[in-house]
Amino acid sequence: MRSAVDNQASKRIVILLGLPGSGKGTLASLCTRELGWPQLSTGDLCRRHIAQGTEVGKSIDFAIKSGKLVSDSIISNMVFDWLIASFAGVDTVVFDGFPRTAEQAQLLNDFLTSKFPICKLELVKLEVPDQVVRNRIANRLICGNRDCQAGYSQVAGSSFCSKVANQCDRCGGVLKKRSDDNDLALDTRLKTYAEHEQRLLDILKVDDNEIVVLNGNRSIEEVFAEMKDALGV
Ligand code: AMP
Repeated sequence: MRSAVDNQASKRIVILLGLPGSGKGTLASLCTRELGWPQLSTGDLCRRHIAQGTEVGKSIDFAIKSGKLVSDSIISNMVFDWLIASFAGVDTVVFDGFPRTAEQAQLLNDFLTSKFPICKLELVKLEVPDQVVRNRIANRLICGNRDCQAGYSQVAGSSFCSKVANQCDRCGGVLKKRSDDNDLALDTRLKTYAEHEQRLLDILKVDDNEIVVLNGNRSIEEVFAEMKDALGV
């Protein structure tokens, strides 16, 4: 249990959980745009390292392409560097894609206890059937600009289509397929998620953090509205 420390402002991390393609990234972006919560997407951070050709990027490229998890220590260090840089001036941040294993959940708890002792975790899980997630991912494109990576759908008539074909609405970047959005890597990602979810929840729930479970198979606006209600924002 994290103890109260009077000289630190209270902080909150909203942790989005759910299968790949369940809408965590889209919901996190909405939280940033509408509520001003900085968004940490570990997948985006990993892909940025790969696009920049950093040493970390070279070491994780194969794991990402094959749909496997990157090592707990590499990911956790990225997250903690980000938190130290991003948590100073705000009270709430939103996590998309971290923690993903029990080990990461434990490392997060330990880090918060030492650096941000008055920090509440809010767990929000998006539930979407496997087949819906598979369809979304089969039709997903992302912006190739490593600093943008906005997500789009190729399904004609979808509200997630880009306004101009193959061009990002936000930055004009060229849209592309993610290297891990293929059947083989997706099978691994779905299996991996199922293997880790309960164990990581067992660790995160230690402090009696409630889980808000939302039906993610609806418009993102409906999901966002229900999440705000549930969190009282
Ligand atoms: P995402 O964009 O969240 O679907 O993540 C894409 C890929 O990045 C994952 O399949 C992993 O290879 C890697 N990744 C992202 N977040 C994590 C994490 N918390 N732990 C381990 N690997 C991660």
